[in-house]
Amino acid sequence: MAKAVLAKGKEKRVEYGHPWIFRSDIEKVEGSFSPGDVVDVYSSKNKFLGRGYINTKSQISIRMLTYEHEEINYEFFYKRIKSAWEYRKKVADPMSCRAVFAESDFLPALIVDKFSGYLVVQTLALGIDRYKEQITDILSDIIKPDGIYERNDAAVRELEGLDQRKGYLKGEFDTKVEMVENGVKFIVDIENGQKTGFFLDQKETRAAIKPFVKGAKVLDCFSHTGSFALHAGYFGASDVLGIDISEHAVECAAQNARLNGLENICRFEAANAFDKLREFYDRGEKFDVVILDPPAFTKSRSAVEGAVRGYKEINFRAMKIIKSGGFLVTCSCSHHVGPELFMDIIYNSAIDAKRKVRQVEYRSQSKDHPILLASEETEYLKCAILQIV
Ligand code: SAH
Repeated sequence: MAKAVLAKGKEKRVEYGHPWIFRSDIEKVEGSFSPGDVVDVYSSKNKFLGRGYINTKSQISIRMLTYEHEEINYEFFYKRIKSAWEYRKKVADPMSCRAVFAESDFLPALIVDKFSGYLVVQTLALGIDRYKEQITDILSDIIKPDGIYERNDAAVRELEGLDQRKGYLKGEFDTKVEMVENGVKFIVDIENGQKTGFFLDQKETRAAIKPFVKGAKVLDCFSHTGSFALHAGYFGASDVLGIDISEHAVECAAQNARLNGLENICRFEAANAFDKLREFYDRGEKFDVVILDPPAFTKSRSAVEGAVRGYKEINFRAMKIIKSGGFLVTCSCSHHVGPELFMDIIYNSAIDAKRKVRQVEYRSQSKDHPILLASEETEYLKCAILQIV
């Protein structure tokens, strides 16, 4: 096995448990290796730090798999996946949940989402992609799904020199899968939906809107397949409008509304949420509750300024159209906009909108997406529930 030796002083982060080693942190690699191989990692003082898979094509050149002298093989992955699954059985609904959350489950770049009897897998780095077949076997053995589907049509794979692909890994089945979340039914399009088909990370925040949506007129911006909107309808809202720019998402949302018998309460429209928010303001239309769950406005540190403007704009507009005493549920999934900056943006939006705002609750991602303290990248979702006075 080749041996990667880190530059002086670069061992601390690894010892503290951050699983990434950047290209610039590596002093040298002794011995031969191919991209994707497992290598030993040593400090500049020749202290063994652990093992990870290497791909020098990627900025993140090594991802740590273990801090022990253990073989990386079928048994290793079995143990890791088993422990991820045991955790879900404790803290989540094992029927539908994120079964493996990559670095947070000590399985870097591996995502497994479970929707009823079906699993959707993403292997987002070369080193983990090599174990895809073994992982499929292990998932079959531990979780016993009816089928497994691969959604490796993710752009990040290109940074690893991997191709874009999707298809069956186990079985052949209808890729429109029905699942239930907090009592609400959804069809998840695991073949053509965004990412793995459904955003499981917001499950607990969707449940958290229950106390203030009864009888309310609700606007759900960036509604995707209608998850927040349908929760509002299910919890007794009187009138719900969901807006999403994707026609496909809007069609799925309308179908989900029918599935729940909520088609007379929840309507969906394909439009740009920025334009709609302005339109409602211009014509003085007001809502009791507005939900903002936009896509990541930035995926890099350099684009944070533009993202801040985007968040500011939608939060400002939303605050302007919420009735006095109404509620705003506002989220950001951009890792580069941290919790402090996010709350700052909201406060500044409130000042500009001339509204007084009270924080009801501050939330992050659901428990099946645990945050690894050593890796700040694993904390990405911020949700503030606010009352607009
Ligand atoms: N709230 C959703 C997840 C939203 S993901 C849920 O809980 O499932 C972000 C969504 O924003 C995507 O569906 C995407 O199609 C949509 N989107 C992106 N830009 C948009 C825009 N300018 N206006 C409206 N929707 C947009």
